[in-house]
Amino acid sequence: MSPSVPSRRPGSTVPALLSLLTLSLAAPLTGGAQAKPAAKAAAKATALEATMDRLALQPAVARSLAALQTDNEWTLREQIALCEIPAPPFKEAARAAAFRDKLAALGVQQLRMDKEGNVIGEIRGTGPGPTLLLSGHLDTVFPEGTNVKVKREGTKLSAPGIGDDCRGLAAVLATTRQIMANKIPFTGRLLVVGTMGEEGPGNLRGVRALFAGPLKDSIDMFISIDGTGFGITNGAVGSNRYRVSYKGPGGHSYGAFGMPNPIHAMGRAIAKIADLEAATNPKVTFNVGLVSGGTSVNSISADGVMDIDLRSESAAALADIDARLHVALRQALAEEKARWPKSTMPLALVIDTTGLRPAGTTPDSSFIVRASLAAARTMNVYTPLTISSTDANIPISKGVPAVTLDGGGVGRGAHSLDESYDDRTDGYKGPQWILLVVIGLLTAR
Ligand SMILES: [Zn+2]
Repeated sequence: MSPSVPSRRPGSTVPALLSLLTLSLAAPLTGGAQAKPAAKAAAKATALEATMDRLALQPAVARSLAALQTDNEWTLREQIALCEIPAPPFKEAARAAAFRDKLAALGVQQLRMDKEGNVIGEIRGTGPGPTLLLSGHLDTVFPEGTNVKVKREGTKLSAPGIGDDCRGLAAVLATTRQIMANKIPFTGRLLVVGTMGEEGPGNLRGVRALFAGPLKDSIDMFISIDGTGFGITNGAVGSNRYRVSYKGPGGHSYGAFGMPNPIHAMGRAIAKIADLEAATNPKVTFNVGLVSGGTSVNSISADGVMDIDLRSESAAALADIDARLHVALRQALAEEKARWPKSTMPLALVIDTTGLRPAGTTPDSSFIVRASLAAARTMNVYTPLTISSTDANIPISKGVPAVTLDGGGVGRGAHSLDESYDDRTDGYKGPQWILLVVIGLLTAR
């Protein structure tokens, strides 16, 4: 995932009172003194919140939530094991096979891998109902040869990819394990999925394939578990990425002087891009992130190449700045040609699209967001609503209710070699929250 930013919308309120669940698990209801705060909390709760409170006390769910805490070590072991299988962009197959085997060991049925390499398993409910897809992404941003051995110091785990997204994958496995082991009743169908290619170079190719393949019309709700903490991402930052090249014949810097210069054209373009107006609400960003080209100091280069990234949470704002970028690129070409009117040497502009991620939002008022917030309240965790670029971008752009939930714990340094994940004292609350959201969405309609 890309770094998420808090949206301007409020998240859940910080739970002021102990929840029913905390009381029931940590201190069974034996006396009136303990029951009082819970009763007060229930009195304030919305219908959906009350449903989540009741669900957490349902015997199979309560057993599962307790087991996620007492057997937290299992979750961490899975997180470490998956992280130590390298998964560079486009080379996630070994980790995918391991993830499939782990789902098989949990008893998940109808396991398969689709054409893109996504791992898909199914858990059928007891009757008809919606299909919920729960996923984590298999790929990392790290190239082949990166040392992915996990270093463990107390509750802190360090290795590239340990949080993004081995935490998500481990949370999916831990949740699935309890649903299977305790035969939690629900209706409909839960698809448990590991996706390929979520990170930049993959350009969401796994989730795109899911929504283009045989399942495309049968996914009613989508949850990606990505990253650490307790946030809910329901705003999808869209991005348009381009590799832009100005190309000419090139030549000697003295002998061939007087012809259009691709690097000079690129410089003109960069100056225009740097001056683009960009709104702050909705937020719009632009960046020339990488430049290359050239032969030597005394050569007119044959090309000037740059990688450009445009982003916004608003599809309209993204389309608007995209249009202005294209105008700027063409103007730079025309100006560099006009600078040398007597030259017959060509100068060309080539624009390669290297990534398109659609923007959009799952409304705060949607059932999936309200259920995620209500479950967080029951679990006594604070959940900000955030905007980011994740696998959920694709379903959100297609109008399928979708969120990305964090997997608990505290992460640092995602996408860096110093990445770490700290489980602290309450990492297990991530999988607990996820389990309650999943079962809530499949029962509390
Ligand atoms: Zn991620």
